[in-house]
Order: sequence, then structure tokens, then C-alpha cells
Amino acid sequence: MNQDSIVNRPKILFFSPEKMLLNAISVFVLTTLFYFFGASLRLVNDLSLFWPLNAVLAAIFVRNPWLNKAVYYFICYAAMLVYDAFTTQWGWQSTIINFSNMVFIITAARLLLRYSRNMDESNWALNAFNIFNFSLIAAILSSLFGAVGSLGIHGDYHEKFMPLYADWVSEQFSTGVLMLPCLLTASLPSWRKFSGIIPSDLYPLFAVVIAVCTAIIIGGAGSLAFPLPALIWCAIRYPLPVTALLTLITGAVEIVLVAHAAINLHSDQPLLLVDQMFSARLGIATIAICPLIVSISVDAINQLIKQTSLRADYDYLTGVYSRSGLFEALKRRTRQQKQTASAQTLLCVMLLDIDFFKRINDSWGHECGDAVLASFAARVLETVGDRGMVARIGGEEFVVVCRTRDPRQGFDIAEQIRKTIELNRFHYDQQSLFITVSIGLAEATLGENTLEATFNKLIPEADKNLYLSKRQGRNKTSASTNATEAIATSHISDS
Ligand code: GH3
Ligand code: MG
Ligand code: MG
Repeated sequence: MNQDSIVNRPKILFFSPEKMLLNAISVFVLTTLFYFFGASLRLVNDLSLFWPLNAVLAAIFVRNPWLNKAVYYFICYAAMLVYDAFTTQWGWQSTIINFSNMVFIITAARLLLRYSRNMDESNWALNAFNIFNFSLIAAILSSLFGAVGSLGIHGDYHEKFMPLYADWVSEQFSTGVLMLPCLLTASLPSWRKFSGIIPSDLYPLFAVVIAVCTAIIIGGAGSLAFPLPALIWCAIRYPLPVTALLTLITGAVEIVLVAHAAINLHSDQPLLLVDQMFSARLGIATIAICPLIVSISVDAINQLIKQTSLRADYDYLTGVYSRSGLFEALKRRTRQQKQTASAQTLLCVMLLDIDFFKRINDSWGHECGDAVLASFAARVLETVGDRGMVARIGGEEFVVVCRTRDPRQGFDIAEQIRKTIELNRFHYDQQSLFITVSIGLAEATLGENTLEATFNKLIPEADKNLYLSKRQGRNKTSASTNATEAIATSHISDS
């Protein structure tokens, strides 16, 4: 069951486990590209607060686990050094700063991958707590090198280690926490889903915008948490990748706003920008984890509901509806077809019971019995096609429900089933065996009744007719007398 699997891990076409040269070129080119992108962000004052390269590369290494080899790490490092050599005057400091980037990338990727081995595939990347913890560990380690490498890099040789370290840690950590969930769950959007959007779907999104605006107006430290309820609303309404993206955008906007003093954390004090940024970035990253946890929980609950209802609605052995699944399906059809169904439409219920099934178990074993049941259900399903629904309601008892225009149509379907079963042998473990089935039929017009009410009403009659088929020698279809008369009449008028 993968339709809405929580994690999407399409292998990016740039990489392939077999093609080393392609991987090497792709790692080099992507590193250079994102280095250029990061460096360009640095030129725009507002965006100089972000260095997305490390999170992007960590995500690439996580999504393509076979890339986690020393050679690709080295190519990545080399690409950074080459870029710096052409564009900066950093000299030896470039080796340390880029080493710091590599420490973040390798630590985060390795930790996430290592953890994934112990977890179910569909769950590992979603463990928001791990993304939080691993980003923190990676940030703390890598920033040691980053801060040392940055000492004096802007020509100010009085810069101290601690403020630089704080700046590095908070930037690496917040970028990791905000970007990694988004990058690890991202998939190509399906445009079909967009066409089904109705205005009320957008309310949580509007709420986020309003909350950010309110934060700007009110200001103060508490305002950073204003978008939280709106983001949690998004987590409940939208899929995880969308929530992750909105959380990333909101967090990034807040960081820019704090840096601009648009959200002023100390409104009555002079700006202490470094301290403010340190605290604000850590705070924003910490808050960002909440909607993700909610989103993951909601996803997990939805998956569970889907799995449980799937298990309850379908028979495990044969794959046809279970008794309760058939009732649900009838209810759904009643709702869908209220407008289209005419009061004259007939509902035809057939009860099927395999003849002497006990003998199959006794002669060939229970496993053979199971295999025959599964093939039997498949053949009935194929014969009925889209003319009706098939359910297993007991050991070797099945029910077929069809909507027909006249009594003969239902009888014909029953006879088709009976003959298909009679004439086609079943195979099991080199053996081939024949079986037959007895069928009891009951039909009624729907009138004003629901499908499920009519179905319930018809079951005893179908059961009586099944008993008749058994008593009259089995391998037979029996219908009630008035229906049989109708069938006979229609046979006469046909001929
Ligand atoms: P008839 O209906 O023609 O009167 O004879 P029968 O032998 O089919 O009789 P009955 O319906 O009483 O027996 C049904 C048998 O089906 C009993 C049980 O051993 C077997 N059975 C029920 N459920 C399963 C199942 O899930 N797997 C297998 N292998 N056998 C089952
Ligand atoms: Mg039976
Ligand atoms: Mg039987």
C-alpha cells in the first residue's frame, strides 16, 4: 500500500548505484550549483542569514544511500574548495570552513541513515525528533571548525570565538531543522490534486499569513510562537511535505523579520543583534518541530485507519469483500446512486455454497482447500465483473449482489457462475480437481428502500433457495417460484 505512502523517495536521476562516473559528476556539479546559490543568497542582505548547501547535500546523501562513500565526500569537499579558490581570497581558511560544511553533511547524513536501518522504511525519515537531534549534533560539531575558520575572515582580527560559534551553531541548526524535513519528504506535486482544492482548504494557509502579520504588529519574544497553532492546523489538513514546506517558509520569514527588527525581541532595549539572532534561530527551530510531529502523528493515524479498514473490509484469503465490507460498499452505493436508481431496479442476491467442500480438505489437505477457495473467489469475481459485488460470508460460502433490470438477468449470471466453476478444473500442486457450486437466488425491486435493507430482506429467501439446490442434488441454481415463473415467461417470449 503505497498510494499515499508518507515518505517519497524517488531516486533523483542524477544518481544511480551502478554509475560511478555519473554520481561523481553529479556530486561535483550539484555541490558547485548549491554553493553558488548559497553564495548568491549571501549577497542579498536579508538572505545572508541562510546557508542551505549543507542541508541540501545531507538530504542528497540520505536519499541516495549508496553515495555515502569516502570518494563522493571527497568530491563534494573538492568542489567547495575549487569554488572558493575561484571566488574568494580565503586561502587556507577555506579548507577549514568547508571542512566544517563536510562535518555537518556527513554527521547528519550518517546519523539519519544509521537510524533508518533500525526502522521501518516508511517511517525513518519522518522521525522529527531525530532530525532535530541530529541537526543539533551536526551543528555543534561542524561549527567548531566553522568558527575557527571564520576568525578574522572579514578582516576584523578582534573577533572572538564564542560569538562566531554561537552564530554558526544557530544558523546550521535552524537551517537543518527547517530544511531537512522538507527535503527528505519532497516529491513532485501531482497536479491532479490541485484541481480538487476548494476555498476552505486554504484557511490554514491564510491563518499562517495572519499569524505572521500579527507577530510583526505585536512584536516581542512571544510573537515568534504566534504561527504555531496555524502551522499545527496545516499539519492536520495538509500532507507532510506541504506542512514541512510551510514550516520552512514561515521559519525563514521569521528569521528575516527578526534580523530586520520587524519582529523586535527587545522592543525597549537597543538591538543586540547577535544575541537576538542566536536566541531567535534556536527558538524558531524548536517551534518548527511541533507541526512536524503533529503532521507525522496525523499521517500515522490515517495510515492505521486505512490499514484497519482495509483489513476489515476485505477477506484476507480470497481478496473479495468481507461481510462488513459488503455492507459498507452497499451503503456507499446507496449514497452515490440515490439520484440515478429507478424504483423499478431489481436487486439480486445469490448465495453460493461449494458442494462437498469438506472432502477437498479431507482428501488434499487444508492448504489445498485454501488455494481452491482463493481460485474459486477469483473465478466468481471474474465472471461477475462489474455487474455486481462478491463477498465471502462464511467458510466456503459466498454472496453475489447484482442490480438487474429483470429477473432473468440475475438467473443468467448465477448460471454463468455455476457453469464456469463446473467446467474449469482447479490446479493445486500437480493435482487438478473439479468442484461444483450450489446457488440460491432471491430478487426484489428496490422501491424506496436502501440497498442494504433490501439485501438483508433477501438473504433468508436466498438461503432457502440454496437449501433447495442442495436437496435437489447440488450443482444447481434455485430461485423463488414467482421469479422462476417470470424467467420461464421471458424464455417463452424470447423464443
Ligand atoms: P455441502 O455444502 O455440499 O453440503 O458440503 P460441504 O462439505 O461443503 O459442507 P459444509 O458446508 O458443512 O462444510 C464446509 C467445510 O468447509 C467445513 C470446513 O472444513 C471447510 N472450511 C471452512 N472454512 C474454511 C477455510 O477457510 N479453509 C479451508 N481449507 N476449509 C474451510
Ligand atoms: Mg457451507
Ligand atoms: Mg459446502
